[in-house]
Amino acid sequence: MALYEENELYLYNSLTRKKEKFEALNAPLVGMYVCGPTVYSDVHLGNCRTFISFDMVYRYLTHLGYKVRYVRNITDAGHLENDADEGEDKIGKKARLEELEPMEIVQRYTLGFREVMGKFNAIPPSIEPTATGHIIEQIETVKKIMEAGMAYEVNGSVYFDVEQYNTDNHYGKLSGRKIEELQSGTRELDGQSEKRNPLDFAIWKKASPAHIMRWNSPWGEGFPGWHLECSVMSTKYLGEQFDIHGGGMDLKFPHHECEIAQNKAANGDEAVRYWMHGNMLTLNGQRMSKSTGNTLNPGELFTGNTDKLTKGFAPSVVRFFMMQAHYASQFDFSNEALLAAEKGFNRLMEGWQKLQQLRSGGTSDFNVTQWKQACYAAMNDDFNTPILIAHLFEAVRFVNAADPNASGLSDVDLDSLQTSMHAFIFDVLGLEEANEQEGQHNKLDGVMELLIKLRKAARDDKNWALSDKIRDELDALGIQLKDGKDGTTYSIN
Ligand code: AMP
Ligand code: ZN
Repeated sequence: MALYEENELYLYNSLTRKKEKFEALNAPLVGMYVCGPTVYSDVHLGNCRTFISFDMVYRYLTHLGYKVRYVRNITDAGHLENDADEGEDKIGKKARLEELEPMEIVQRYTLGFREVMGKFNAIPPSIEPTATGHIIEQIETVKKIMEAGMAYEVNGSVYFDVEQYNTDNHYGKLSGRKIEELQSGTRELDGQSEKRNPLDFAIWKKASPAHIMRWNSPWGEGFPGWHLECSVMSTKYLGEQFDIHGGGMDLKFPHHECEIAQNKAANGDEAVRYWMHGNMLTLNGQRMSKSTGNTLNPGELFTGNTDKLTKGFAPSVVRFFMMQAHYASQFDFSNEALLAAEKGFNRLMEGWQKLQQLRSGGTSDFNVTQWKQACYAAMNDDFNTPILIAHLFEAVRFVNAADPNASGLSDVDLDSLQTSMHAFIFDVLGLEEANEQEGQHNKLDGVMELLIKLRKAARDDKNWALSDKIRDELDALGIQLKDGKDGTTYSIN
């Protein structure tokens, strides 16, 4: 029997505002879509929190025996600076400022994003589709929405007709708003606007002469509206109905609200069965956000190269820190909290080391079966990782107090405790033993020190051919040597 058949998983569905029993549409298959980053700048730690939360969800579903198809997009076109369909394309703007091709910007930050997520030990999604790779599908969906009478064309742009949609549907149901409230919250159309109603949103936008990223369409040259790509790519790869759609809380409105409307208009039915939203990471009480500059980059965090931290922290410590909060609650980041998390992480890992050495035999009152049930119960209660971690520490307390040669556990119980601890710490929470990461780093430091010494010896001997060869070949590997007055250091690009 698969684990998912023994476990009743409940998750909080943002749409119904209730914890609901998770029933996969086609078990053992599960389809999960998560809104990915807009790749116009480095990801900050807030973005990472959302993706790490859904990595944990993916890991737990997989642990339960589901075969999850996990789709997370890369937004590489169509995301404008302003939610009201105005302003420059974020990627186009960055490309203009840096005098690069938009696709160079996309490539740079996509690779950076993947590298950071790799450091956090996040498993890559099964499919990582891009908006620019699905222009044809998006045009087809625009046509379908128009055929359903829910969109209209004006001067080369196509807008979703929210009022029309709202006659038989509720636009605002996900974010819990009524259309009247939404309408009163928008500013009046200024006569310049092509929209019939301020709430209408672009699903296809005419490209101005300066707009670089543009494609042919039945309505002339233009580009897709940002919300459209997620409707199109989720259903393309997961079916017209699929299990889970995730993203950060800030995407509920308007992004996800628009997705719901687009899918219903195009396919006659809603696509998503369970909407899940991760909450925001704050820094000193304020939401981390690119636009306000209140951010911390993962690079600064790992090196400690920032005045916001007293030292650097290993990615697994940061991941553990995040897992100490429930994904749906707000969580504040601070140096002190991270220092405490580091202590906790080390204690957990030491406990795990000791557990591997324990022998069976003797007596104890630690009930492994009950403990294991409690761990699953925590995860089955809307992925409650802080409660799970509290249970892991109960096991650590037992291990620390146990006689290593006669732990008091039977062979079966000891094996079960070891297997479960391993599964929860490494497979579900996705932590890695810090010394593994640090160990690799220390080895590289040692090798580099050796090479720097050999190069210095070559230079002292005026063997320029050899010293240049060392420098150039390291450079080709992406490792730069920097000669300073205190000696030579290296950096990796
Ligand atoms: P963006 O690249 O701005 O579209 O954001 C990518 C993802 O990061 C989205 O799912 C956002 O909801 C999420 N996100 C942005 N800021 C934060 C934050 N401070 N905490 C958690 N998630 C965030
Ligand atoms: Zn999206």
